[in-house]
Formats: sequence, C-alpha cells, structure tokens
Amino acid sequence: MQSKSGTQKIIMHIDMDAFFASVEKALNPVLQNKAVIVIGAQTRSVVACPSYEARALGVHTAMPVYQAKGIAPNATFIHGNFGKYRTFSEAFFEILYNYSELIEPRSLDEAYIDVSHLVTSMKAAHALAKEIQNTIQKQLHLSVSIGIASNKVCAKVASDLRKPGGITIVHPGQEKCFLSELPVEYLPGIGKRTKEILNQLNIFHIEQIANMPEKLLIEAFGRTGSAIRAFASGEDFRNVEKPEESKSVSRSKTLEEDTLNTHLIHAEVFRLLEECSLQLRQEKRNCDTVAVTVRFSDFYTISKQKKLNFTSNIEKELWPTTTTLLQKAMHIHKPIRMLGVTLENLYKTSQISLFDYPFSKVKNIQQAIDKIRKYFGFEAIQTGRTFQKV
Ligand SMILES: [Mg+2]
Repeated sequence: MQSKSGTQKIIMHIDMDAFFASVEKALNPVLQNKAVIVIGAQTRSVVACPSYEARALGVHTAMPVYQAKGIAPNATFIHGNFGKYRTFSEAFFEILYNYSELIEPRSLDEAYIDVSHLVTSMKAAHALAKEIQNTIQKQLHLSVSIGIASNKVCAKVASDLRKPGGITIVHPGQEKCFLSELPVEYLPGIGKRTKEILNQLNIFHIEQIANMPEKLLIEAFGRTGSAIRAFASGEDFRNVEKPEESKSVSRSKTLEEDTLNTHLIHAEVFRLLEECSLQLRQEKRNCDTVAVTVRFSDFYTISKQKKLNFTSNIEKELWPTTTTLLQKAMHIHKPIRMLGVTLENLYKTSQISLFDYPFSKVKNIQQAIDKIRKYFGFEAIQTGRTFQKV
C-alpha cells in the first residue's frame, strides 16, 4: 500500500499471547507449562483468559467457569487482578516506545506500531520484530505475536495467525491474496453475529466478501459495508494514530471512612502524587503546576493549586508544594471524605528541569523504584510516607 507521500508503509500489529494467564505465569514460574485459567475480575462466572494449555483442553474466553471446571478440573483457576495486568501493560508499552513514537494502543496488550522510519524492507522489519519479541520475553517473561504488513488490517489479521510467539509477514502486493482464503471471522469488524449472517448467505471466505457487490454489503451492514469490502480486498488507508495527549494527570481516592487523621491523609496524598508522577515519567513528561482537592464529609470541596518555578515528574520534588496546598485546603476542621492530586501544564521531558542536576541522585533512586514496581506491581515498594497508613 502506498501512502500519500508515495513511500511504502511498514506497520506492525503486536499482540501479547494469552496476556492475563501469561502474566500469572511470569509472576509464578511454578505455573509454567500448566493449564492456567484466569477468571474475570468483574464477572466471576466466566473465563477471562485461558492459557494455551487450557485452550488445548477446549477452554475458551467467555466460557462459564463451571463448564471450564468440567473439562479442565486440574487447571489452576485464578481470580483476575487488573492492577497486575496494568503494571505489565505499562512495561510493555514502555518497551514499544523505545522503538517508535508512532504507536496506537488498542488495549492493554495490543498495539499498532508504524516502523516505516526504522526499516525499509520486510526483511529488516522481520529482524526488528524478532528483536522486539526477544526484548519483551527477556524483560517481562511474556510472549507476543507480531503481524507485519503495509497496512493495519493485514498486520492485525497476520498477528493472529501463528500464536503464540509467531511473526507473520504480508508482503506488499500480496494483501488481497493473503486474506482471500481465510474464514470471514478473521477480518476485524466481523463479529459472531455478522459471521452468522454471512454464512447464511453462503459466504465463508474473506475473498467472497471482496467479490460481493458493494450495494449488497451496504444493504446488509449499513455504512460499514464499504469499509468491510475494502478491508476484505486488503485495502486500508488508515494511519497509525497516536492517542490524544491529556492536558493533565490526576488521581483521586475516596477514603474507606471519613477521617481527621492527618498521618493517614498525608500518606494517601503522597500515594496519589506517586501515581501521578509515575504516569508522567512513563509518558516522559514534566508538569509545572500542582493541584490538591479535598472533599469533606458534607461534600464541601476545596481545590488549591500552585504554579511552580520549575518543571518536574519526581514526587520528592513536588511534595513540598503538595503538602503546602493540602494544609491550605484542610483549614476547615471537618472529617475528610475524598482526596485528589492533579499535575498540570505538561511538557515533554526534553525540556531540562532546573533540578536535573542537584536531584540526579533522587532520580536514580526513583528509577530503581519504578523498575521494581514495573515487575512486581505498585505495592511492591512502599516509601516511608505511604507506609504510615498500614
Ligand atoms: Mg492478546
């Protein structure tokens, strides 16, 4: 597929293999090579993610748990823990951002990445995909499958073909041919219901969709009909779109019970500041404004904010301002119900912080803490301040 500038695009679709189950295995090597079934955190009655060993026994996503227990009685059933998966997801994206800025996250464990500026041939793209796979395996103990193509739809379909651990290339010019013999449900946008409708029309392969009159597809699927037909023909001019950057980062916490305990309040606020700062560091951004929000037991709410004379993403640097704001907001003697921290006015970290040099030691410690949290979860390390609440 030629882009508007006339150059060939090279797009990868990277997808973690059995993500939730694989995270559980990465954290607990005893589970290696065993059937692991992660149960939904919200809907505890259905399977959220079976490992490949469990899939081999016939367990699949969205299967009722009692049924999964029937066919895989010896499997290890684990209640999903979204916090853990989010931590691994953040680490996964951090690795991807080391390769390209042009990333479109699709979910916790899935992303498009435009690598056209890094490689000019599919051979080189394959080597790069291998390197990305190895890095993720080495650093996170997780396996990914990668599809490489000149457009998003083919990259996406390709990443699914050789799971787990596969790399599948669709060579330029082969897009339509690559898709032609695959079952219709392999095409993004064709869900279970659409598949049934198509099968009733005697349409089983993607090629048959490509050959359907556009009018008929629009009749059947409305406006998406023409997009489905273009995809089926291997045509997709969509760009890899970076997510819109937020203008601020904030966290809030409603306390378990309303409190006047200043130790607890300070610990909670520091914890919120830590989470906001971590997100900024991951996004390689600094802030120059801090805001603190306090909601009292009667729902009366105060927000205080201050512009700094420096930029930072380090909680230790931001803490003195945060505590001053907190004290100002807490001038009423009433139990507190909710606390919030917002870091605003964000800049890319290429802008040098006034504190870069004197705080370099702080930064090294911070990087070490971030690393440990990346692998073992946010709770793995508690600093003195947040620890007070225990
Ligand atoms: Mg996946």
